[in-house]
Amino acid sequence: MSTYIVMLGPPGAGKGTQAQNISERLGLPHISSGDIFRENLKGPTDLGKVAREYMDRGELVPDDVTIAMIRERLARPDCENGALLDGFPRTPAQAKALEEMLNEFDDGIDMVPYISVPEAVLIDRLTGRSTCRAQGHIYHVRNNPPKEAGKCDIDGSELYQREDDNINTVNRRIRVYMEQTEPLIDYYRQKNVLVELRGDQPIEKVTEDLMEAIRGDL
Ligand code: ADP
Ligand code: ADP
Repeated sequence: MSTYIVMLGPPGAGKGTQAQNISERLGLPHISSGDIFRENLKGPTDLGKVAREYMDRGELVPDDVTIAMIRERLARPDCENGALLDGFPRTPAQAKALEEMLNEFDDGIDMVPYISVPEAVLIDRLTGRSTCRAQGHIYHVRNNPPKEAGKCDIDGSELYQREDDNINTVNRRIRVYMEQTEPLIDYYRQKNVLVELRGDQPIEKVTEDLMEAIRGDL
């Protein structure tokens, strides 16, 4: 059996940061739907052209497009032992589609860490976030600055502010999360896979809590 972990939480909760911290330790590839979309914007590919208008508005890319993208990604050889999903699923339809995909591999979701953070904290986190151009490594101007301003500690590439990390789009994304993604909290709670973690603690402490939960659960 493979291991599938789904990181859940509002934009800015720290899903990407935590997934980057634990992916290697767990030996599972970090699959971020947002990162895959952003890679497709660079080309731009046909997928990127479709995704851009939704991403710029802070809305969700349609389910059919997103589900097809993740299906293709999970079928690749590096996901043989499972995956650490970050940013997918984000709607009930995506959650059902994921279950069907994993059913095809005779598998299922092992654990859903839900990182909860008060809304006021999210806005500060997202508007202060900077992202590495090459591989999407995540920083924050105050909470988690790079050693050298504007440069990624890990691969030396340029740090930039994502276009959707402006106050208007951030507010829209948080509303969209509440309307479309929050129902997944109860959905996974009922399936007995949800583990709630406090995200308003130092990054390393959240990582510790997360690793402890995973060790206890898997
Ligand atoms: P998400 O993937 O859930 O949108 P990120 O991991 O990108 O969230 O984190 C959003 C921003 O908050 C980033 O700038 C990151 O450096 C910062 N951050 C993440 N976790 C914490 C934390 N525990 N405390 C303070 N800042 C954090
Ligand atoms: P954050 O880490 O701040 O939550 P992401 O990088 O996960 O942001 O997502 C950025 C944007 O990409 C979203 O606002 C949305 O437009 C699109 N996106 C990412 N994942 C999904 C998904 N599962 N379904 C639909 N749209 C998505």
